[in-house]
Amino acid sequence: MFQAPRGTRDFTPDEMEKRRYIEKNMTSTFLSFGYGEIQTPTFENIELFTATSGDAILNEIYDFTDKGGRELALRPELTAPVIRCYVERLQMEPKPLKLFYFGNCYRYDRPQKGRYREFRQAGCEVIGVDTTEAIAELLALAFTLLKNIGLKNVHINIGNLTIISAIFKKLNIQKDGQIELPLIDKSQFDDLKVSLQDSGVCEKDAEQFIRILQTSEINMIRLFIADDPDAIQELKIMETVIDLLKNAFHIKEFDIKLSIVRGLDYYKGLVFEIDAPMLGAEKQLCGGGSYDLVTLFGGSGVPTSGFAIGFDRTILALEAEGFIFPTSKLDVFIIPVNQDMLPASIEIAQQLLRLLSSYETKVFLLILICSVVV
Ligand code: AMP
Repeated sequence: MFQAPRGTRDFTPDEMEKRRYIEKNMTSTFLSFGYGEIQTPTFENIELFTATSGDAILNEIYDFTDKGGRELALRPELTAPVIRCYVERLQMEPKPLKLFYFGNCYRYDRPQKGRYREFRQAGCEVIGVDTTEAIAELLALAFTLLKNIGLKNVHINIGNLTIISAIFKKLNIQKDGQIELPLIDKSQFDDLKVSLQDSGVCEKDAEQFIRILQTSEINMIRLFIADDPDAIQELKIMETVIDLLKNAFHIKEFDIKLSIVRGLDYYKGLVFEIDAPMLGAEKQLCGGGSYDLVTLFGGSGVPTSGFAIGFDRTILALEAEGFIFPTSKLDVFIIPVNQDMLPASIEIAQQLLRLLSSYETKVFLLILICSVVV
């Protein structure tokens, strides 16, 4: 007996109905925020991902050599492919350019609930604008996408890599915190304390830093970075974003959390994640922020930011909340009562299909043709 490869899944018609519901709903939210859809190839030249994330990514991706000897990789995410496409084809487009996508991604992860080797992402990139309003709108879009599909319980955590870098500088931590960042990302604070002390940070400062990483008190953060003008400026930007979120977008479900540093190397400035607390270990539904890839790919520098939502986890989160997915209902039942009625039944069905196709797809028609012997 053959089985689907480890970490991959088949989707039955019932499951596909849930997935299509989410995709349709998210598409209309993206469109209503002024985004246009983009699609890029499932595989890319491998350098796209090694240039972005270093050779370490080779352990986490599906790579292969094709019959022409080209080194390729199934995409592990879509930000790098979308920015590659932007640099290749869209640089002359008017800004801001707002792009959204759906696509399957492939990672050589250890499979478990909510973590697969083939999974789907919905996401977007905003190119050419980095005002506080644009960043606040990006966060609001991520939140609205999740709310519009019917999720009740989601929470945004907002971090900032410029502030983290300033703290590293203040604490004299070398190599941009390459050892410390993964520990912060995984909230391994005991190991972080040891690592900080190994780097010469005194115990008091290490403990204070770890407290700062976990606090949502802006004033406590401000006191800690008071002597770094760049970090103070960045904190002001964060405060404006928060103010817009709260008072203009009316979103209250968020916290500042400097321990949000994102795993990928290309982020900078404000970063964020959205969790569904009900999901336990794999609760992160969305991750994003500001990043810089355009110049790395040879384009002329423009600000870029975006996020990706884990499609499969949003379904798990909806199911965990007991969400009732809309099901397609049967509107018309056509039963030819005898063999002679068959041509007329087909004709009626054809006419109805033509008539109903002018309505949006919400109307479903099932043609049941059965022979009834009388
Ligand atoms: P990332 O590109 O790592 O920031 O991931 C963005 C989102 O994709 C995460 O918040 C998850 O919801 C989802 N995701 C990442 N990796 C996986 C995976 N292996 N299986 C399922 N979903 C994933």
